[in-house]
Amino acid sequence: MDAARLREALVERGAVLEGHFRLSSGRHSDRFVQKFRILEEPKLVAPVAQAIAARFAAERPTIVVSAAVGGIVLGYEVARALGLRAIFAEKEAGVPVLRRGFALGPEDRALVVEDVVTTGGSVREVLELVRAHGATCVGVGAIVARSRPDFGVRFEALLEMPIESFEAEACPLCARGAPIIDPGSRRA
Ligand SMILES: [Zn+2]
Repeated sequence: MDAARLREALVERGAVLEGHFRLSSGRHSDRFVQKFRILEEPKLVAPVAQAIAARFAAERPTIVVSAAVGGIVLGYEVARALGLRAIFAEKEAGVPVLRRGFALGPEDRALVVEDVVTTGGSVREVLELVRAHGATCVGVGAIVARSRPDFGVRFEALLEMPIESFEAEACPLCARGAPIIDPGSRRA
């Protein structure tokens, strides 16, 4: 699935909203990504996961690791495409940990996957967790990159969609009088 087709599919499904949005930071933006419009649709997740898997197959990963909640769905499908196990990190007292008897060790070559990379904070936490278990990380794969954080490993996203945001006072959409939408509870 190439970037143009993916973008079209995301817009069609309402995963990429174009308009005038108030972000959680209070800044205004002309785009908003509602990741669960992707993750709720197996027919879309499957080809997306296959595309991510294809980019890392040559690195011979042994396991797919992601972060709950959105990452569970994507990680599972990427793992299916690679014929691997998928495990996920969950927060315990604010710190991501592996629960449920998930095994990860020094022999593992982990592929870390994330739905939408914004600041990269949750990916960094998963990378730390992988290293804390002595495993190697072969790379980070994502559906959408809203920025290009340096993870210290190969980072591949199917779609680059840099965040463009404005202070309310300097917002060109406000200047044009465009009505603003607060994604509020619809926020992923
Ligand atoms: Zn505005």
